[in-house]
Amino acid sequence: MIRFEHVTKRYPDGTTAVDDLSFEVNEGELITLVGPSGCGKTTTMKMVNRLIEPSSGRILLDGEDISTVDPVKLRRRIGYVIQQVGLFPHRTVLDNTATVPHLLNWPRKKARARAAELLDLVGLDPAVHGDRYPDQLSGGQRQRVGVARALAADPPVLLMDEPFGAVDPVVREHLQNEFLRLQQQMRKTVLFVTHDIEEAVRLGDRIAVYGQGRIEQFDAPAAVLGAP
Ligand code: ADP
Ligand code: ADP
Repeated sequence: MIRFEHVTKRYPDGTTAVDDLSFEVNEGELITLVGPSGCGKTTTMKMVNRLIEPSSGRILLDGEDISTVDPVKLRRRIGYVIQQVGLFPHRTVLDNTATVPHLLNWPRKKARARAAELLDLVGLDPAVHGDRYPDQLSGGQRQRVGVARALAADPPVLLMDEPFGAVDPVVREHLQNEFLRLQQQMRKTVLFVTHDIEEAVRLGDRIAVYGQGRIEQFDAPAAVLGAP
């Protein structure tokens, strides 16, 4: 589903963020990318939706070299959730969730119905939360809206970059559990960045353990935990 072939990313200032990375992710797999800050996790993710271009190597999505795919079309196939979800402050939760359907010019009614369905899916009540503005939600609820928004066009791939990193531990555990339950239904192909090994172990079908610019281990949680 996602395949990195000898991908290197060197930033203009000379930093090698990702160094000759090769790995493959199967359809419906949830891969956690774990490692200390600055080891190249975010750079890896941003290359998948072409926010960043590799310096060398190539990335295939469903067998197709993504450098040949129009970035706007590519991003319709890839949902993206980050720590500071960046909801539009002057749009309601429902309209924020329907961002992509609106961009795709879905009929308004259909877009709003889809948004309501998604809010429900992530554990928010569209009748209660849909008409609120983002600053009237808790941090955990805002992250849920971020997940709902990323799922709006039903993309096969989800990129999640520390989506639950900014909420307190109790809420985080709640969000993790809900996300796992959701993933059991959805079976998206997910790359999930975290610097928290416990989160990586809890969520990942397999874990990519990063060192500086490289994946040092790529294995099932039990194997990663069993490593010396
Ligand atoms: P992580 O997500 O694991 O924290 P990043 O992918 O953000 O790591 O960063 C990897 C390395 O690339 C770090 O050394 C970081 O400072 C550097 N880096 C990230 N973005 C840029 C940039 N735009 N310009 C130069 N260096 C960058
Ligand atoms: P969560 O566990 O999802 O983070 P919280 O415990 O932080 O939720 O919030 C509990 C309740 O308080 C929620 O139902 C939310 O709607 C409400 N709430 C939180 N912040 C605000 C706010 N600024 N304005 C109105 N309601 C809020």
